[in-house]
Amino acid sequence: MQEIRVELTKNPKQKPTDESKLGFGKIFTDHMFMMNYDEGEGWHDPRIVPYGPISLDPAAMCLHYGQEVFEGMKAYRAKDGRVLLFRPEKNMARLNVSNERLCIPLIDEAFCVEAIKKLVEIEKDWIPTMDGTSLYLRPFIFAVDPHIGVHPAKQLIFMVLCSPVGAYYPEGLNPVKIYVEQNYVRAVRGGMGFTKTAGNYAASLKAQDEAEKQHYTQVLWLDGVERKYIEEVGTMNVFFVIGDEIVTPALQGSILSGITRMSSIELLRSWGYNVTERKLSIEEVAQAADQGLLKEAFGTGTAAVVSPIGELKWGDKIMNINNGEIGPISQKLYDDLTGIQWGNLPDNMGWTVEVK
Ligand SMILES: *Cc1c(COP(=O)(O)O)cnc(C)c1O
Repeated sequence: MQEIRVELTKNPKQKPTDESKLGFGKIFTDHMFMMNYDEGEGWHDPRIVPYGPISLDPAAMCLHYGQEVFEGMKAYRAKDGRVLLFRPEKNMARLNVSNERLCIPLIDEAFCVEAIKKLVEIEKDWIPTMDGTSLYLRPFIFAVDPHIGVHPAKQLIFMVLCSPVGAYYPEGLNPVKIYVEQNYVRAVRGGMGFTKTAGNYAASLKAQDEAEKQHYTQVLWLDGVERKYIEEVGTMNVFFVIGDEIVTPALQGSILSGITRMSSIELLRSWGYNVTERKLSIEEVAQAADQGLLKEAFGTGTAAVVSPIGELKWGDKIMNINNGEIGPISQKLYDDLTGIQWGNLPDNMGWTVEVK
């Protein structure tokens, strides 16, 4: 394995004192991880350096053609002081899935997990301790060749930033109102929907903006071809409890394969629930709502973990789910996932990785 060079900052920043005001993604720690790729040399010069601006040629290809991929994960502080990561090898494996689709040279997954552990170890005093808080980690790769021609990059940079983040639900798990998007689509099969790449998020801003204007938290995306089948909600995967079946849309190329989704399916099945990954139309959900069979709906993702859905608006139809309250399955899933992630419950699945 390559040696990671470490250059510590001479000017450590003041750490936030009020952990109830952290918010999300606004504050960054003292250090960041970087390494470069150059054709012929491969990934090289891995280093942990003081956090700060980087200089780019204005012709850097990422700025023109969006050849960029990223990941989102967290480091958690357990009550006994341990520092935990949740399935970090899955994030690095998914980064390579994104890399492959965007013609970005693959990374050494095990090495990058080690690099992240080393960075978190150096920044461990930045991990907040209040309930529900964590250190959000943002690995990303972007193309930097100074070249205004469309072709796969020959020079890239991989970086990891750390950001202390607040509790997603400071007042407890609150069901959200979701708006079914009928005009805009996020991704189509054959495109990049299954990757975490910048362009997918640029494509989602307009719908998100319009949903917020109508006082909805996020949008529920329908498939880009027929606008009929459910895909995701905002930047979360989505589950519906219909009768005694828990349904989540199957991964068919336009949906992101969430690590929280994967973990939720495994946990729910281990508890004996019937979880199916299949095509699910918005019409089927509306019919289930009319027949009183739509018991719960929730989103899953690293940021919120589990986000119960209390209301769905599809055109003129408003579906109230579980009287706008959190249901028992959503609650149990949230309690168990967060219990494992923050080290308060035994990790029978072997999902957590201690940083030490
Ligand atoms: C990151 C992301 C998710 C959730 O993935 P997790 O690995 O569970 O955090 C779901 N959908 C989209 C579009 C995402 O970007």
